[in-house]
Amino acid sequence: MHYIKLLSALFCIITLTACQSGPRTGEVTKIDATNIEDYCLLHDVAVTTDGLLLKNRSSSITSQFNLRNFELTAKVKTTTGAEGVLIFAATDAASTADGYEIRINNSDYRVGSLQKTGSLARIRNNFVRTAQDNQWFTLGLTVEANHIKVQVNGKTVNEYDEPVNVVRASDISGRILTTGRVVIRRSNEIGEMLLEGFTIKPLKIVQPEQSLSAAPDSLTKVVDQLNDKEFPLIDFHTHLKGGLTMDQAVKHAQLIGCNYGVAANCGLKFPVTNDSTLNAYFHAIKDEPVFKAMQCEGREWVTLFSPKIIAQFDYIFTDAMTWTDLKGRRMRLWMPDETFVDNDEKFMDLLVSKIESELSNEPVDIHANPTFLPAKLAPDYDRLWTPERMDRVITVLKTYDVALEINSRFKIPSIAFIKRAKAAGVKFSFGTNNGSNNDLGRLEYCLKALKEAGLTKDDMFIPRSSNDKKVTKMGLPSKITG
Ligand SMILES: [Zn+2]
Repeated sequence: MHYIKLLSALFCIITLTACQSGPRTGEVTKIDATNIEDYCLLHDVAVTTDGLLLKNRSSSITSQFNLRNFELTAKVKTTTGAEGVLIFAATDAASTADGYEIRINNSDYRVGSLQKTGSLARIRNNFVRTAQDNQWFTLGLTVEANHIKVQVNGKTVNEYDEPVNVVRASDISGRILTTGRVVIRRSNEIGEMLLEGFTIKPLKIVQPEQSLSAAPDSLTKVVDQLNDKEFPLIDFHTHLKGGLTMDQAVKHAQLIGCNYGVAANCGLKFPVTNDSTLNAYFHAIKDEPVFKAMQCEGREWVTLFSPKIIAQFDYIFTDAMTWTDLKGRRMRLWMPDETFVDNDEKFMDLLVSKIESELSNEPVDIHANPTFLPAKLAPDYDRLWTPERMDRVITVLKTYDVALEINSRFKIPSIAFIKRAKAAGVKFSFGTNNGSNNDLGRLEYCLKALKEAGLTKDDMFIPRSSNDKKVTKMGLPSKITG
């Protein structure tokens, strides 16, 4: 009996030593077509002069060694539409419930899977495209203690700390950090995936930091559940204001578990005020791991920019807070000394007709800061936004395929308005519209509205694909809309 135990223990030690004879702790090991079979099991993978070709849905590469703490970089190329996954912490490579899964998918928006390359699937989803089909890109992964960092082309698209005693949904119960294998495999039948090779550097084992073990609060629990359901938790309306940098914004988004769309304010008397400043802005941010947005200011914007420059952005949006009344007064509704309300009812009727004119003529994707009222009228919001007025706005949103922003800063529109818009089939976007570097928040009002109106992922706006931009199809109105 003892003899058998001893033998089996010996066998385990020999096997383990053989498996770990590859990448050595603290050293970078490069694995490519020349040596892959020393380290990995290949299934339906062709070794070509371009690299390792994962041609079919069944194609996979599975490490024969196990890792716990490591740095990995993989050079990958997808042909149009090809999708795959990088799995780690997998103790049973055959099971999809086991190990963390990073998505590889560079399809355009509204094409293929919603999650794009770098998505830590169902834990912290990424919906932003930072790599392109038919171009080599680098996928980076660092796992250290309870910390996971995913990078695409050197940009951090995901940072996540696994909480202590984490519990996952039953079908992904094994998505927990442990010593395990690394697997790269295809996940659809379209196109091909090429792996030039990857580097592995096992890191010394360190204990998880106790300071990171705080139990998630109620809002984090909601965010975790939404990520698990693959809900596109995206804040499409943030600004680099008050000294907020792009890196700080991205870090904040990752901390609270969502993706950001970052917008420049573009219009008359704004820093971005013509094609050349708009184009320069776009090129300055084009590689950042956020959606790139243009906030169209005032009604004059349609005369300042060209469709071709505008169409580079993932989406554009505007609000109805700047327009000119029947007496020729240009109003900014958030500025009390620039807003004129001679008669409450007439003002409301004019506001609704301005919204109708704007959203039917301007090729915008999202109606931001919706139903905003000047300070003088705001206390009477529920009385002034009558069902008839709500329905006029809802009709124009639906007819012109404009998403309705749920605005966290102003807590608008009302839940009643959101429920009515949902019933009519309007799409929604979440937006914070931060005014500075200290008011990004955690999408509190949006999450409240989501719960109370019962929004699902099918209710949510996703940016159009590049060959389907409204501004390209509709063009710009020849004169300002209001
Ligand atoms: Zn804004």
